[in-house]
Amino acid sequence: MSAGSPECGAECQEALEQLELYLDGELPNTTLEEVKAHLTACYPCTDRASFEEQLRAIVRRDCVESAPPSLLVRIREHLAGVATDG
Ligand SMILES: [Zn+2]
Repeated sequence: MSAGSPECGAECQEALEQLELYLDGELPNTTLEEVKAHLTACYPCTDRASFEEQLRAIVRRDCVESAPPSLLVRIREHLAGVATDG
């Protein structure tokens, strides 16, 4: 149980597990289509995917200081969540 997170079904868990590979463009076509289909249909996952995408771009450029404060807050929350997820 993690407080503050929206409830996510098994499909969401699977999609989010593939998210990194999806963003890296490393998913095989069949899985890619499944993840894409889920992201199209599931707003929380779309939001999560676009957030991960922004996060990656920022981390890659190592220019967190130029990110808007609202995004920095989300990044800190995200990193805190990842750290406790195991
Ligand atoms: Zn979902």
